[in-house]
Amino acid sequence: MSQEIRVRFAPSPTGPLHIGGARSALFNYLLAKKNNGKMLLRIEDTDRERSSSESEENIKDSLKWLGINWDEGVDVGGEYGPYRQMERLDIYKKYIDKLLSEGKAYKCYCTEEELEKQREEQRARGETPRYAGCCRDLTPDQEEKFQAQGRRPVIRFRVPGGEIIRVDDAVRGKVNFESDGIGDFVIVKSDGIPTYNFAVVVDDHEMKITHVIRGEEHLTNTARQVLLYEALELSQPTFAHVSLILGKDRSKMSKRHGHTSVVQYRINGFLPEAIVNFLALLGWSPEGEEEIFTLDELIKQFSLDRVVKSPAVFDMEKLKWINGYYIRNSSIERIVELAIPFLQEAGYLDENVDEEKRQWVSMIVAAVRNRLSTVREIVDYMELFINDEIKPESEKALKELQGEQVSQVLETLLSKLQEAEDLEPENVKKILKSITKELKLGGRKVFMPIRIALTGQMSGPEMHDVIPVLGIEKVEKRISYVKENFLQ
Ligand code: GLU
Repeated sequence: MSQEIRVRFAPSPTGPLHIGGARSALFNYLLAKKNNGKMLLRIEDTDRERSSSESEENIKDSLKWLGINWDEGVDVGGEYGPYRQMERLDIYKKYIDKLLSEGKAYKCYCTEEELEKQREEQRARGETPRYAGCCRDLTPDQEEKFQAQGRRPVIRFRVPGGEIIRVDDAVRGKVNFESDGIGDFVIVKSDGIPTYNFAVVVDDHEMKITHVIRGEEHLTNTARQVLLYEALELSQPTFAHVSLILGKDRSKMSKRHGHTSVVQYRINGFLPEAIVNFLALLGWSPEGEEEIFTLDELIKQFSLDRVVKSPAVFDMEKLKWINGYYIRNSSIERIVELAIPFLQEAGYLDENVDEEKRQWVSMIVAAVRNRLSTVREIVDYMELFINDEIKPESEKALKELQGEQVSQVLETLLSKLQEAEDLEPENVKKILKSITKELKLGGRKVFMPIRIALTGQMSGPEMHDVIPVLGIEKVEKRISYVKENFLQ
């Protein structure tokens, strides 16, 4: 039987879930689900100053919103817990003691000022600053002296000299690093807490992780981690480093290119399945031309060998297009639920939304849903349904209103609507059509003046969807306002 695939997402809770982190989480999740494996969520909170429980909550909420669930980890538990690094300190200690006793790690008593001085000297000599090795071979006497001075040591890993470190990456192929380029790095800080590079190796080993998928920015860390795997004589997982996410101008993705955290997409009217679909395409290339994938389809189709090496470009227009697709294909009720908070925030709805108001919103959603690329955009359409003092949007629109037979078109519309049994979209559609027949006019000569008279605009949602929202009174008001003010 082949080995069970076990992957993890291991965020540091130092801020909200970033779009790049969400992509790493998604790729791990897809690999696990595709292979009936397990997805873990481990919280890497050893940076105590920057970590917060608020960030942890945000990360978990964002993952759940996206539909990325975990089989083991914080909150759900599992065989290899605890899953928060600060609760695992005694586990790390065993490994640290082993490295110390084998001379593969050592205590370093250099102060921050001394280290800075060493770095300055190296820079002055034109060298790349790295730990100069002052404490590499301290005698017990020297150590005692430092301790007596009240210095608190860090623990450094003794990087072997002259070695080629090979990282065998499932996306990038074989990547080599020279160990001489890496100074003896800190694995335990002076407060006794291990650093990321150390804790991650112990945890990935202890939690039996088989694949580590993460951002390319970690590749140089991986070189250090490989050294630690070798020193601890542990077998390595398969590494896969996914390319950076760049903005359209090819610089690193930042706030300039769009929101960087998942929660911001949520509060701006994006749907989770659109984000998942979009993130999957940021670095993974499907086999065919199709670009729309649900999470289940992604699980079926995902494979690591279709993760590309070239940088992924974040294209906001494409994300909006995908989001629009999912909005159009959602139920009206769902979009109504999502739209209500935006309408409340913009002052179009009170806190209490009764059945009548909900019905009104649902007609508006039916009218504009096909035109939305985010749910928030519904707010931009509201004036169209509310303000009865119609102003033609341009000279051209005004001209159209002043065309021949416009009065007649509007009169006919009004009387037909007044006589109509109901103003359901289907019925309104029929009425509009019948006007062209009755007046023997081309469609445009009927529809355009009606559109401009009722909305001021030359394009927009379908009139047979708009009229039912307006109702007969508003149609009457708008037509008489336009007649008074603009018709000749
Ligand atoms: N805690 C690291 C981060 O948030 C995890 C990197 C990794 O996946 O190993 O960047």
